[in-house]
Amino acid sequence: MDFNLPEELQLLKKTVRKFVDRELIPIERECRPEGEDMPEQFVKPLQEKAKAIGLWLLDVPQEYGGAGLDLMSRCVIMEEVARTVAIPFRYAPIFGPEVRPVLFHCNEEQKQRFLFPVIRGEKRICFAQTEPDAGSDPAGMKTRAVKDGDHYVINGTKRFITGAKTADYAQVIAVTDPAKGARGGVSCFVVDMKAPGVKLERLWPTMMGDTPGEIYFDNVRVPAADMIGGEGQGFAIAQKWIEEGRIRGHGARPVGIASRALDMMIEYSKVRTTFGQPLANRQAIQFMIADSAMELHACRLMVYECAWRHDRGEDIRQLSYMTKIQCAEMASRVVDRSIQVHGGLGLMRELPLEWWYRQVRSLRITEGTPEVLRWRLAQHIIRNHKS
Ligand SMILES: Cc1cc2nc3c(=O)[nH]c(=O)nc-3n(C[C@H](O)[C@H](O)[C@H](O)COP(=O)(O)OP(=O)(O)OC[C@H]3O[C@@H](n4cnc5c(N)ncnc54)[C@H](O)[C@@H]3O)c2cc1C
Repeated sequence: MDFNLPEELQLLKKTVRKFVDRELIPIERECRPEGEDMPEQFVKPLQEKAKAIGLWLLDVPQEYGGAGLDLMSRCVIMEEVARTVAIPFRYAPIFGPEVRPVLFHCNEEQKQRFLFPVIRGEKRICFAQTEPDAGSDPAGMKTRAVKDGDHYVINGTKRFITGAKTADYAQVIAVTDPAKGARGGVSCFVVDMKAPGVKLERLWPTMMGDTPGEIYFDNVRVPAADMIGGEGQGFAIAQKWIEEGRIRGHGARPVGIASRALDMMIEYSKVRTTFGQPLANRQAIQFMIADSAMELHACRLMVYECAWRHDRGEDIRQLSYMTKIQCAEMASRVVDRSIQVHGGLGLMRELPLEWWYRQVRSLRITEGTPEVLRWRLAQHIIRNHKS
């Protein structure tokens, strides 16, 4: 068993770290996007630089012009990129337009209409699953899509949808067969945000700075040809995508954030002197550093194992729950400690810590809350436990 990253991934990690240290961390004071968008003047030049080192359309297959990276590589990249606050928290436009992996389930004709325009950056798409009465429990969704000739008629409300205000299309997860529910009764549609009956009802400003939207569907007629995957496959497709995000966005990202927060904590503790000695000499501070290093180390190993097993095609659902819970909670603690070690300075907008403090809080809500994931995990462990 080799616990080191393979050589090519070590090289990738080094390359991305250099890019982040040279190109992104130096602009953090001028560029710290609060919301989903990054100031335009920074995007283009950084995209050119990212492209030049092969960091472009990371999850898009090579046949469509992307880098076609596996999850492990994308986790390594995410870990490094999360060390900076110069790019929006939820996605990195510097690596190209965000292409929702659910779109890879398009058939050939749908790829022309939906996938390729998104890859080219001509169209934007959001992912609409959550509803006012169905967040942690998506199987309880009420949005209905009823077949009517060669169309489906969609009625319902989707809430907290990232990017809804700028999206051209929404990937809508809706119930097509209430009797089957999540087991084959939910389907995925691409819906034009300008179609009659689609209304961006309101935006929800958040403590993180982004503003997910609420979309109302009132008798929206969607051609049956705009269903992604077959009827009844929507839930499985959506869950698969959410699982990847759980490892990369909610696993590797908090690891990256915590790693820089810890670096900052150590560096500051060495230079800040109180009562005649550097903070680094005080046991209370040393314990915060040791606890953070320990927890970070464990979480990094969990992310790597989870991504590695995912890329081998193993079922990593339970491991992804563990990884997500641990990493999201760990980053909250490490950022909090780093603020504590910095004292008043830790609260200042001069430093990235307050930004992370607000952002990492959201990781314990989105893509599976720790309460629900712990519950699911325990059910699985108890069911499969052999005395
Ligand atoms: C910034 C942001 C962006 C988002 N972007 C998107 C998006 O793009 N697309 C999308 O579809 N959704 C999106 N969401 C929705 C997000 O996935 C949900 O908010 C999340 O799943 C939680 O659902 P909820 O808010 O309805 O909370 P609830 O499900 O109402 O849960 C409330 C609380 O109760 C707890 N709880 C629930 N059930 C149980 C139980 N059985 N046992 C114990 N505790 C329980 C939860 O852990 C939580 O603490 C976004 C949310 C936010 C905040």
